[in-house]
Amino acid sequence: MDLTHFRFEIDSDGIALATWDMPGRSMNVITPEVMAELDRIVDAVAGDAAVKGCVITSGKDTFSGGADLTMLQGLGAEYARLARARGQEEAMRFFFEESRRLTLLYRRVETCGKPFAAAVHGTCLGGAFELALACHFRILSDDDRTRVGLPEIKVGLFPGAGGTQRVARLMQTGDALQMLFKGEQIRPLMARNMGLVHAVAKRDDIVAQAKDWIRNGGSAVAPWDQPKFKAPSGKVYSPAGMMTWPPANAIYRRETHDNYPAAKAILQSVYEGLQLPMDLALKVESRYFANILRSPQAAAMIRSLFVSMGELNKGARRPEGVGPTAIRRVGVVGAGFMGAGIAYVTAQAGMEVVLVDQSAEAAEKGKAYAHKLVSDQIMKGRAKTADRDALLARITTTAEYGELAGCDLVIEAVFEDPKVKAEVIAKVEAAIGPEAIFASNTSTLPITGLARSSGRPDQFIGIHFFSPVEKMLLVEIIMGRETGERALATALDYVRAIKKTPIVVNDARGFFANRCVGAYILEGHLMLAEGVPAAMIENAGRQAGMPVGPLSLNDEVGVDLGLKILKATKAQLGEGAVNPVQEHLLTTLVEKEGRLGRKNRKGFYDYPAEKGPKRLWPGLAALAGARLDPEAIDFAELKQRFLVAQAAEAARVYGEGVVTDPREADVGSILGFGFAPFTGGVLSYIDGMGARRFVELCRALEAKHGARFAPPQSLVAMAESGGRFYGKAEKQAA
Ligand code: NAD
Repeated sequence: MDLTHFRFEIDSDGIALATWDMPGRSMNVITPEVMAELDRIVDAVAGDAAVKGCVITSGKDTFSGGADLTMLQGLGAEYARLARARGQEEAMRFFFEESRRLTLLYRRVETCGKPFAAAVHGTCLGGAFELALACHFRILSDDDRTRVGLPEIKVGLFPGAGGTQRVARLMQTGDALQMLFKGEQIRPLMARNMGLVHAVAKRDDIVAQAKDWIRNGGSAVAPWDQPKFKAPSGKVYSPAGMMTWPPANAIYRRETHDNYPAAKAILQSVYEGLQLPMDLALKVESRYFANILRSPQAAAMIRSLFVSMGELNKGARRPEGVGPTAIRRVGVVGAGFMGAGIAYVTAQAGMEVVLVDQSAEAAEKGKAYAHKLVSDQIMKGRAKTADRDALLARITTTAEYGELAGCDLVIEAVFEDPKVKAEVIAKVEAAIGPEAIFASNTSTLPITGLARSSGRPDQFIGIHFFSPVEKMLLVEIIMGRETGERALATALDYVRAIKKTPIVVNDARGFFANRCVGAYILEGHLMLAEGVPAAMIENAGRQAGMPVGPLSLNDEVGVDLGLKILKATKAQLGEGAVNPVQEHLLTTLVEKEGRLGRKNRKGFYDYPAEKGPKRLWPGLAALAGARLDPEAIDFAELKQRFLVAQAAEAARVYGEGVVTDPREADVGSILGFGFAPFTGGVLSYIDGMGARRFVELCRALEAKHGARFAPPQSLVAMAESGGRFYGKAEKQAA
């Protein structure tokens, strides 16, 4: 057979082996060409009486990440074109047929009459795992890197090539729904325990064992196509079903606040599909899938969380003229909360780390944090003792700046005090070579100002981490006025090495993320002062799509830190730069009540000494204005205020040229502070409703709640000209 993306061979026992190995790509991906070849493979296996069955495996170091989502974006664009040219109905018919091609292909694999087995090593996700699920036998390598899963929900989609139906027929409904809602990557043994795969074996044995399964008479009929098949949870309309479905609905609401149509479509597909034979069930799934694929939420999430994030991770902002930088040895100065985390992620990425603090003990304490983090990983089965030893061996602790000699990059994370930072900059620069890059992790001090203490401001840059460093995926790279291209390239290469996503921003107070999230917290504070009950504020924040309420968030970062930043802002920019209501609230909380946040177990919440849930501090009511009648409060407006306040601030930051690329604002807002992911991010939120409507909304909120909602001039101009943050072509794709 003349194939490009697969190798196809038949052994002397008549067992075929289809090895998926796309030329010129490091990873296999499902494309129309791959689908066409797989179709021919099924023909060849089914149509040749001498072929007993077929094993599908990968010729690469990993299996496949699934469908090419840009292919799905292309379908959306074609739908929009057809709808304009030939009307909605025809466009929808085309869209439905096209979007279920993969479903039908996989169903052919499953029903062609010959047994198919998937032998999987490495990651096998999304559409690729749906292919494995359509095979009659699945075997995984026991390798550390092997993972299976259906992560579609993370980009606003759901597994629409049979995934919802097959998973729901392999395990208890509750477990299946959890798996589909979470979209997690699952390790081999767990996958076997869950009933998702049949066997786990050494990498070198998986193909042979898959062939053995065929040789020994493996069945070509999927369990659900057997006449007496019973779903693991029994019938939907049964006492067991009644134990499952009402809570499933409640959990869906609790987890999504009804913001994610894809999650609802999972519930609907499974609920309806389980009552039907497989072919009809797949049709139901396809109908929901076609609708979800056309949803604005999926379009926005695919663009930001798949396309844009991928581009940023691959170095979209890297200056072209600078060759690859070699970062082998990294200095981290300041082994406190942030420095310890930075040392850990750097060592984990295989780089050598020199961790400096004022005393060797303080530096050692920072290393102990890395010890703790990697030990936690071992406890969870995600790392081995040998990994811990190797990682810790890469971290040298010291109080001697001289040890920084030979570092390619030094990151400082000392106290947020310009004087301390200036001293540190001088000491570091005296120790490092002329080529090394210096980075500051400051969260509030302008990089241009700090670079004045440097003898080589072109090699001086900001690398701003978020806490906790080991968990947060975003890093802001801040360009000082004189920062040069090599410093930028080095910072981007470093962030890529530690597997985080970078956004590049220009130097300004608060940079990007903290300014937007500051608007969220401010709105929560002002609502409290207006007399909105605190619980309602927190719920409105979460229901708007934020991961935590604004008051909880403030407790996490520290109420005192908020006050400190207000004071510093006021000292530099004057009275008008801070909101007096917020200042009064924070001053009272911190200076009168001693409530600093979670750190002293007293903030907007009370935190019990022992384990137990936090509770809103009853004293909040006394700090607020007259308590408003909850029934009279417009809850939808509260939610809207949260999103509009942040988006307006983002538009302001963008208008000021601090962020220069909408992709960075959007990806940064979701990864940095969890801005309602279903919107696609702060600027996609504006584009989603159109600048004109957004400006109107801002004006209405400004009239009611004050000048902070005033739309920035750049946005007003955009609204007047009918412009958008993303180009017109993308609107059609969406
Ligand atoms: P921290 O107080 O936990 O740690 C600071 C460390 O620096 C301490 O261990 C201290 O001993 C050490 N240090 C002070 N002076 C030093 C010197 N001259 N030489 C060597 N070490 C010295 O503070 P942190 O929260 O880790 O913050 C550090 C920096 O990171 C600050 O600039 C802060 O603005 C920034 N930052 C903090 C966060 C956060 O959430 N905490 C987030 C992003 C950025």
